[in-house]
Amino acid sequence: MGVEISVVVPVYDEEGSIDKFLARLLPVLAELGVGHEVLFVDDGSRDGTWQAVQLHRRSAGLDGGAPCIRALRLSRNFGKEIALAAGLDAALGDAVVFMDVDLQDPPELIAEFVKLWRSGYQNVYGLRVNRDRDSWMKRLSAALFYRMFNWVSDVKIPLNAGDFRLIGPEVVKAVRACRDRRRLMKGLYAWVGFPSVAVPYERPERACGRTKLTAMKLLSVAMDGIVSHSTAPLRAWTWLGLLCVAGAAVLGTALLVEWFAGDRDPPTGFYMTALVVLAFSSLNFLTLGIMGEYLGRIYGEVKDRPLYLVRDDEADGG
Ligand code: UDP
Ligand code: MG
Repeated sequence: MGVEISVVVPVYDEEGSIDKFLARLLPVLAELGVGHEVLFVDDGSRDGTWQAVQLHRRSAGLDGGAPCIRALRLSRNFGKEIALAAGLDAALGDAVVFMDVDLQDPPELIAEFVKLWRSGYQNVYGLRVNRDRDSWMKRLSAALFYRMFNWVSDVKIPLNAGDFRLIGPEVVKAVRACRDRRRLMKGLYAWVGFPSVAVPYERPERACGRTKLTAMKLLSVAMDGIVSHSTAPLRAWTWLGLLCVAGAAVLGTALLVEWFAGDRDPPTGFYMTALVVLAFSSLNFLTLGIMGEYLGRIYGEVKDRPLYLVRDDEADGG
């Protein structure tokens, strides 16, 4: 049986989770009755994670000719986003499911994902109906981040969507073609498009161990996400420059009017200084803005993402 579904699982210092995870995942996959593989991506673990995976690999043996548990070990900790990208590159399946190893993503949902994929959706994502189990800090920062992201970026990430999802062959191919080094996978799924659907679910507590995504890591990914999907921070200077131009124009006009009305000597002192400062600030900001426009375009070119992605092609009339 060929591999139809790859389950990609990034793991970082998770030796205690592997057994429990596979014990719940494998029966679900067997039940699906399709060729599958579980692909662990060891993101530079410092504990016995790799050995734990190897043990299972040996005991799982072959599934119709193909090893149903595969593993990839990165040379160091690259972070979850890159671990997911590495897994996606190595996955053999037509469709790829991404999930965490801590059982916060219920494996039982995969059956539903597959059903929706078969009915035509290329991007089937889990939507957390409650975030009660996250700390208030995490909830607040996530809420702020996704709102800000959606505000400055031209692609939108659904609020409360996670990494737990199934992507169909078209999205697999499209996301693979995006070679962004610093990335937010959720941003890329949104960028590539294709029909998407949400599957709501309750996100339980971590089955064991503690979170590996520290506040610093999350902050860094958040920054990567915004910077790689928006040039708003570069363009902001143009707006600031225009604001200064407007300020200078108002002040300058007011001074001229007073002067010509004869109420005053030629303007000097504070107002004149303010006018000069505003005029030169606007020049500075506008120049920064113009450079930002070029920089943004160069950045877009170096990312070298596909120009567009085709959903249906009936151009040949066939
Ligand atoms: N993870 C990873 N590399 C990292 C951090 C985390 O591969 O640098 C994995 C981790 O082992 C887990 C998944 O990413 O399988 C989600 O991490 P975690 O459960 O700690 O995040 P949370 O659920 O707290 O957001
Ligand atoms: Mg977790």
